[in-house]
Amino acid sequence: MASKCIITGVPGVGKTTVITGALARLEQEGVRYANISFGSFMFETALAEGLVKNRDEMRLLSKDDQKTLQQRAAGAIAKTEGNVLVDTHASVKTPKGFLAGLPEWVLEALRPDLFVLIETDEDQILGRRLGDPSRVRDMDTYRALASHQSFNRAIAAAYAMKTGCTVAMVTNADHLLDRAVDDLAALLR
Ligand code: AMP
Ligand code: MG
Repeated sequence: MASKCIITGVPGVGKTTVITGALARLEQEGVRYANISFGSFMFETALAEGLVKNRDEMRLLSKDDQKTLQQRAAGAIAKTEGNVLVDTHASVKTPKGFLAGLPEWVLEALRPDLFVLIETDEDQILGRRLGDPSRVRDMDTYRALASHQSFNRAIAAAYAMKTGCTVAMVTNADHLLDRAVDDLAALLR
């Protein structure tokens, strides 16, 4: 049966890297997933409408603008058939607080079977953000980042209650990318 998986993690945790590794491994075994970036779907519309110039500006838009973009992205992504992996965020840190990445109407459109949180120690994430000039990452404090990761676990529990999906944590620790890739591949197999 086709599987719908949501993969999340705070910016800089290495989500995209772990996903790319896991999907390459599965591909060798003949297991295929459509790899969908929720942020890219949102960005396409936001850019076309002149709301932002880069994807890292979207989290600064008004809550209503972000929700509209989110809803449109979810509707488009829901049309994908077969095994689907959605690279997204359990919650988005905005100037007005955390915005749910999968509010009710997004969950209804996506109907996930599995929800994954990619996590690691806050000091490692801060180091990775400093080393990524391609993105405009927030320079959070250790404490703010810990609070974001813990909020993400809490909201993942709410998503499990709403949909009956399972929730799994994958640790992407420094120097142990292979282990994270193995763990994610095992969940998607
Ligand atoms: P990413 O490339 O995964 O870092 O996503 C880029 C941006 O897309 C994020 O910083 C958010 O502003 C936005 N985004 C991605 N997924 C969601 C979501 N589920 N809900 C709201 N905004 C999202
Ligand atoms: Mg990414």
